[in-house]
Amino acid sequence: MATRKLTFYRAAILNPKDDKTCEFWADGVLVSETSQKGVSRIKEILPYREACEKYVEDFGNSNLFEFRHGVIVPGFFDMHFHWVQDDVRLMPKDSLLQWLEKYTFPTEAKYAAKSYARSHAKKFFHRLSKAGTLGGACYSSVHDHALDYAMSEVKGDILIGNVLMTMQSPKSLQQTSRDAIKSAQRGMRKYKHRYVLTPRFAIATDPHTMRTTALEANRRKIFKQSHLSETPAEIKYVMELYKQFPAYKSAKSYTEIYHRAGMLGARSLMGHAIHLKPTELKLLKSTKTALVHCPSSNAPLREKGLGSGLFDFRKIERQGIRWALGSDIGGGPFLSMLDVMRSFVQQHGRKGRQQATFVKALYRATLAGAEILEVAHRTGSLDAGKEVNFVVLKGPSGTHKDAEGLLKKLIGQVAKRADFDKQVLATYWQGRTL
Ligand SMILES: [Zn+2]
Repeated sequence: MATRKLTFYRAAILNPKDDKTCEFWADGVLVSETSQKGVSRIKEILPYREACEKYVEDFGNSNLFEFRHGVIVPGFFDMHFHWVQDDVRLMPKDSLLQWLEKYTFPTEAKYAAKSYARSHAKKFFHRLSKAGTLGGACYSSVHDHALDYAMSEVKGDILIGNVLMTMQSPKSLQQTSRDAIKSAQRGMRKYKHRYVLTPRFAIATDPHTMRTTALEANRRKIFKQSHLSETPAEIKYVMELYKQFPAYKSAKSYTEIYHRAGMLGARSLMGHAIHLKPTELKLLKSTKTALVHCPSSNAPLREKGLGSGLFDFRKIERQGIRWALGSDIGGGPFLSMLDVMRSFVQQHGRKGRQQATFVKALYRATLAGAEILEVAHRTGSLDAGKEVNFVVLKGPSGTHKDAEGLLKKLIGQVAKRADFDKQVLATYWQGRTL
């Protein structure tokens, strides 16, 4: 009789549930079951001692993987990053708008060359898997072929969209409204729900293009993403700029401009959202829009961020607005969500926000993203029945009482921020190691 194949992974295991709860096994076994068709699902997690008794006849040399000092967590969700900005992550930063002009736009223009885009896509998405990121939402350049290469290299539940840039942009990147709409329609048709409609931001995408494509995305139930209220200078610029458009002249806020353009909604991800008025919070709540907090990108210049300010998650949560974490590569300096989690705890801790724990950071870097992307029923945590998508991290030595203590040590043991990538011992996606 054909049987289902069991595989066992032994390590410390963390399974995030919400902001305050994370299941923890100091010495646990994750049991994965693979069907005859080759589909793997998580069967259960249990303490090693119990697993030894229960599965005494199933443990073999070939199906038990033991990670000494390893820590298993779900694959990370990075809910806002630009794969085409990998080369500008560590460029000098003084402020958002200058940094875009000086470094980011010229770099993105290079993706017009197919061979450049192809080789960079291969390299970038390989590194992303190695950093343990298996979900999220990603910005590509304006070029259709760059989107195609990214789509063919990416592993995991990562939505990707080409940015639309029809105004206030350098010549090398600026599209006509007609071309921008065509390329968004191409992306939606070709990639369906793997695509995310991506008007770069209100400064660079004219309202006609935004609205036409947003309404189509809404009809097709496709996600949308953009940047909202990252810096005061950007907000001022947007409010001035939109006075020229009759339908937007009376808009009272940046958020309202997106609302009028059809950009808000339950399948909308707004990056940064730092400087918001109470009326904007209400609008985000009533439209069920989700926000993405990018702490390492918004961090002070001395911490390699753009110095944009700090998202106030307490205000956001009080309104019941959903949010998750993102790296914002290349505004953010490092790819690893461990670095983003560290920055989150550090910056909010400095402000005395005691709710900013590592347990919260882990939830917001995994399951919260999956919930927003509507895939939490099958991924984002390690609950029984979900896909076998997880990361094994290099854990600290010693014994650990709880999830918070373990995470604090795990992240604290890394001296150089660039080394967070190296903390990943293995990334498993759908039961296979990448
Ligand atoms: Zn961004």
